[in-house]
Order: sequence, then structure tokens, then C-alpha cells
Amino acid sequence: MSAHPSLPALDLLVVGAGISGLTAAFWLRRAGWRVAVLEAAPRTGGSIETWSEGGWRFEMGPNTVLESRAEVGRLLREAGLAASRIVAAPTGKRRFLWKQDRLVPLPGGPLGFLTTPLFSAGAKLRLLREPWIGRPPEGTEETIARFVTRRLGPEFLRYAVGPFVSGVYAGDPDRLSVRWAVPKIASLEAEHGSLIRGALARRKGPQPGGAMFSFPPGLEELPRRLAEQVGDVRTGVAATRILRREGGFTVETTAGPVTATRVLLAVPADVAADLLAEVTVERSRLFAEIPYAAVAIVSLGYRRSDVAHALDGFGFLAPRGEGLRVLGCLFPSQLFPDRAPEGRVALAAFLGGRTDPVAVTLDDAQLLAAVEDDLRRALGVRSAPVLTRVRRWPRAIPQYEVGHGRFVERAAEIEREIPGLFLGGNYLRGVSVADCMCNATVQTEAILRHNRPNQGHPELRGAVA
Ligand SMILES: Cc1cc2nc3c(=O)[nH]c(=O)nc-3n(C[C@H](O)[C@H](O)[C@H](O)COP(=O)(O)OP(=O)(O)OC[C@H]3O[C@@H](n4cnc5c(N)ncnc54)[C@H](O)[C@@H]3O)c2cc1C
Repeated sequence: MSAHPSLPALDLLVVGAGISGLTAAFWLRRAGWRVAVLEAAPRTGGSIETWSEGGWRFEMGPNTVLESRAEVGRLLREAGLAASRIVAAPTGKRRFLWKQDRLVPLPGGPLGFLTTPLFSAGAKLRLLREPWIGRPPEGTEETIARFVTRRLGPEFLRYAVGPFVSGVYAGDPDRLSVRWAVPKIASLEAEHGSLIRGALARRKGPQPGGAMFSFPPGLEELPRRLAEQVGDVRTGVAATRILRREGGFTVETTAGPVTATRVLLAVPADVAADLLAEVTVERSRLFAEIPYAAVAIVSLGYRRSDVAHALDGFGFLAPRGEGLRVLGCLFPSQLFPDRAPEGRVALAAFLGGRTDPVAVTLDDAQLLAAVEDDLRRALGVRSAPVLTRVRRWPRAIPQYEVGHGRFVERAAEIEREIPGLFLGGNYLRGVSVADCMCNATVQTEAILRHNRPNQGHPELRGAVA
């Protein structure tokens, strides 16, 4: 879209066209607000990025969205996207874990748990004690590692929660906060005094749908279709400064100033810190302290006959200390149609994260060598890939480490101090695509409850210089 045509007076300007910003803009536009979205990159979607070529289709960011919250289904329906989404093949429910030089399926139910070789008999017996383990002293903020070891024992940290944390956050369980990174698990202890009692109690309540989905052209279809419906989305235009002015804000951009009654920042934390510098006095740079994990994704195409493993699952996770460098590997062409040409399979390996920050600094040849070595061992890959693509994300996923609450509190303070300025994005209250869609929906509902659009506000006419 062109950077220059003049905007009509805006009720709200969204900065950042990732899924958070586009979800908010979609709902506001739906409510009749005059909204525009600025996006620094030449394309919308932020972390959601699909790459297609010659019958291959790879996700460079998230591969799937889990319909874990009701707001996700509502947004898809309202945006006319519910019918075109595709749900992952049932085999996707099966996941593998690398332990002692082989892939072991994660247990699917109580019987599978009793017989799985993932945990020793001692570790399984120790679970019986879990309901009687007390809570930590009031006010303690534990790491995930400390919490899981205390309640479930070290094997559950190593072979269950640790790899899961790597899969979602590319994070380090010794630094992530149980309260902020996995609030649902933390609340089981807080509300029921035990994870097992809490999980049993929740099974009696309504169960979330939990379908894992994408779209035939790939996940990028989601931001693309939302952006189409928002209409005024300007790619290749970066916000550089925010200034308060009578009745609203002036946002300086690489294409000239924009004025709006309200501004919603849906950008990464360090960008928010820079943009807030002019409008907030105290601790304005605080968000720049939020750590991010760096991740490299290596996408590979193979002839099916060159991969020995049945690939009958979502993929595998590799616990740290078990001899593989990859954090895990997905089997995308087993989940969705049209991900690889006939007779070929698509694999996507993840490296890096908080426990291996050096990985993203390796060159392509080094990354490929590490991945091919690991896949030879884990999947019985017998030849070189027929296609490879490397994507590095130096600031992939924000980390909710111990002390994260100070960022959430500061965000709330800023919104109170500066009426009309709103903070969104994945660095505060949830990193998954579903969390971002849900949090942006809830935030927009609050904005709509407490604000009215300024129809025809004279001061804001012809807002772009
Ligand atoms: C490699 C990877 C794999 C992932 N896997 C999964 C997964 O499988 N499932 C899942 O649910 N989640 C996954 N996630 C997480 C999820 O994709 C992200 O948390 C989510 O998409 C973030 O959305 P957002 O809109 O908050 O931020 P972003 O997508 O980061 O969007 C922010 C936007 O702001 C723009 N911007 C920055 N500066 C400016 C500026 N000055 N002016 C204007 N615009 C600006 C950026 O260009 C960007 O488009 C993954 C993330 C990554 C990186």
C-alpha cells in the first residue's frame, strides 16, 4: 500500500500489523471506528510468515494455531475465516520425545502413563505424593524448574515440562516464571493446592475445543485476510516517535506525521520502549529489559523413501542433555495437505532458544550440518535434503522470566497515566498466536466499552501531513 495518501481523521492508530495489532484493528473497524494500521515491514503478519515454492509450503514462524480460547473461534467466524481453516490430521495428537537415543511417544492417557519408558517407576510413584505437597510461602515467585521439581520431581521437569517449555517459549525453565509463563499450571496449585486435584476438578468443567489449525495457503492467510478487512493497513511505514497533543497524539513515521485520538502499540517490547520514551517520564525504557529467545528454523524437504521413521505424529521434542542440538522437529507435511510435492516430506527443525543462544549465530552450512546429523539419528534420514531454507529470528519469543510482573504493572500504569494510549502485543500476557488473538479481542472490548469514536472531530481532519 502507498505510504503517502492522506488519512481521514483517525479514532485510533494501531502501530504493528502482527496478529495482535490486526485483531484489534479488525474489531474496531467492525465497530465503525476509523482505524489505520502502520507496519514497518513490507508485509503484514509479523512473526506469522509462510514461504511457498515449487509445491513446497513452509512456515517460517508458527506452524499451527491451537484453538485454546473461545475468542479465537469467534474472531475466525466474524472474519469469515472459520470455513476455510484446516484442522491438523488426527495423527498430530501424537508427539515424540527423544530419550536415550530413541524417539518415545508421549503417553496419551493414564494407561500409557503407567507403561511409558519416559519415567522411572520411582518417578511415577512419587506422583502419588503430589496432592500432599504444600504451597511455597506467600509472595514467593518460583521458576518453572523449581516449581515442577518441588511438586512432581526432576524427571517430570526433564522429560515433560522442560521440553514443552522449549517448544512454546524456546525458554529456560530455570529462568521462566511459573506464574507468568504457565499461569494455568500455577493456578492449579493456587486454587486446588495440587496439580493432580486441580486437573481432575477441571476435567469436570467445560473443555476447550482445542483444535489445531492452519489454512490451505499457510498460516499467513490469517493476517492477510484480517488486513484486507481492516482496509487501511500501510506496510513499509515505521512509527518513529509518539508525541502527545491536544485531543490525542501525533505519531511521527517514516512517511510523515499521523494524528489520532488514540494509539495502540502492538510492536515488540524494545520498539515499544523506544516509542514510549517521549510520552512517559519514568522508567520509559523498562520494556527494553524484557529478554527474548533467539531461534533458527531450518526447513528441509526429503524424498519420502529417504526417511526411515513413520513420521506418524506432530513431531518430536529433544530434552536438553540427551545429545541432540535441535530443540525439536515438526512433520508439517503429515499434518496438512499441500505442504510437499508427491513422494516428498517436509520437516522443520528448531534450534537456539535461551539455552543455546549461539545457534542463531552459526552460518547456514553449520546449522544444516547440525540438523542433518540430528535427523540422521532421530528419524533415520538416509540422504541429503532435496530442499533447505534457513530463517533466523534474533528476537523470536519474549520470555516471561521471574520478575515479569513489573512489566505488566508498568504497562497498566502507563495506560492509566496516558489516557488514549494502549499497549498490546505478545510481550505481556501470552506468546501464542491464540493468546495474542484473545488478548487483543479482550483489550478491544474494553476500549469499546470505555470510549466513543470521535466522529468528525474537526481538529483531526486531514490528519496526515
Ligand atoms: C519462530 C517462531 C515460532 C513460533 N511458533 C508458534 C506456534 O507454533 N504457535 C503459536 O501459537 N505461536 C508461535 N509463535 C509465537 C507467535 O507467532 C507470536 O507470539 C505472535 O505471532 C506475535 O504477534 P504480535 O502481533 O504480538 O507481534 P509480531 O508478530 O512481532 O508483530 C509486531 C509487528 O510490529 C511491526 N513493527 C515493529 N516496529 C515497528 C514500528 N516502529 N512501526 C510499525 N510497525 C512496527 C513488526 O514489523 C511486526 O510486524 C512463534 C513465534 C516465532 C518467532
